[in-house]
Amino acid sequence: MGDGEKCEFIVTKAPLKDLTGKTIGIVTAAIDVTERKRMEKEIQQSEAKFRNAIENLQEGFALFDRDDRLVIWNRMYEEIFAFNRGVVRYGVRFEDLVKENMKIDRVVESVGRNEEFLRERMEQHQNPLGPFELRLTNGTCILVSEAKTPDGGTYTTLTDITKLKQTEKQAREREAELANIRRLNVLGEMAAAIAHELNQPLTVISSYAQGVAAKLRSGLASPDDLLEPVENLIDQANRAGEIIGGIRSLIDKQETRKSAVDLNAAIEEALTLVTPEYQELGIGVTLDLDDGLPWVLADEIQAQQLLLNLARNAMEAMSEGPCASSRLTVQSSQADGDTVEVAVMDTGPGFPFKDREGVFEPFFTTKAQGLGLGLSICRSITEAFGGRIWIESAPGTGALVRFSLPIADVKQLEDA
Ligand code: ADP
Repeated sequence: MGDGEKCEFIVTKAPLKDLTGKTIGIVTAAIDVTERKRMEKEIQQSEAKFRNAIENLQEGFALFDRDDRLVIWNRMYEEIFAFNRGVVRYGVRFEDLVKENMKIDRVVESVGRNEEFLRERMEQHQNPLGPFELRLTNGTCILVSEAKTPDGGTYTTLTDITKLKQTEKQAREREAELANIRRLNVLGEMAAAIAHELNQPLTVISSYAQGVAAKLRSGLASPDDLLEPVENLIDQANRAGEIIGGIRSLIDKQETRKSAVDLNAAIEEALTLVTPEYQELGIGVTLDLDDGLPWVLADEIQAQQLLLNLARNAMEAMSEGPCASSRLTVQSSQADGDTVEVAVMDTGPGFPFKDREGVFEPFFTTKAQGLGLGLSICRSITEAFGGRIWIESAPGTGALVRFSLPIADVKQLEDA
């Protein structure tokens, strides 16, 4: 104890008696209680600090003891639930607070279903699993977090997340608006590109048809004269049909049905369709498929179309100068716990472009008869299932296109 500090004593006096019971003096005892008083004061001060801290919390706070009776709470806790005067008091049971709250229809989730709500709320309170939200009838949204204390009690914090929810809602609305604008832009670009693409065969059809009409009008045309232009007419009309068919494949992906697909089987099935053409060109095909490949989330037909498009592209790339070493290799493997990857490699001239993302855009083609839809269809198929597709080869070396698809979560598919 420092100099100048006061000492406190409790002084007790008692009469001192002799054997006959006669008082012969007074006994005085003094107990030094300085330390005890100091500790009491410290406890009071720290309790005041603790209460002050709880009171100044931005959140509502309440602590219930092991018998579920309220022991500590702050004003915010009372305000959030708009409890009537005197309801929130020391020792009141949590269940009674919930019932009081239902009387004034404070919580949206309880309105019209008091019994169920009470049951659910008691269950949550007794076995807290993690934060959950409650909507109040005044429009406020509250995040409720509860946890057990080591002595079997429960504490609750209530955070007002109304503003956060509003901001999230606004952000979602803005995102939806932007997505809509983006869709309109894409639609505009697509419409322009489709018009441009269809215009070519239509112009050719028109000029051949005019030629045929002129020949017929002249009365000099023999069937042989007409055969070639009419065949050209058919070719161009077919081309227009292919363009429309390709666009339809792009759009169809919207109604995609997701299921668990054996990707190795889809690869083998797709390659049987192109094998005769590969054999004709004398180009070898190697399949390097992972036996233990998990099934993926996809649509079987679309997965086959994906492979078919890539195998056709590889064949077209290699058909320019096929040689003994020309080869298509398709590899499947599990990339990580969630994804399967397929690599489609060829020994052709490769992708020569700087901006290689461009090849995935609709109507991008370097081929005289190309539609430029194959890779964009591949991209929309992979993305529709949560995968992606990319070019891995360096410019000028044989093409290596790789795509990924998510491993099918059987549980998720059953729930869907
Ligand atoms: P298309 O085959 O009708 O041109 P795609 O969208 O399938 O349309 O391909 C776009 C372009 O990407 C092709 O024109 C070609 O330039 C390039 N390409 C695609 N696959 C390969 C490949 N395996 N090797 C080299 N270039 C390729």
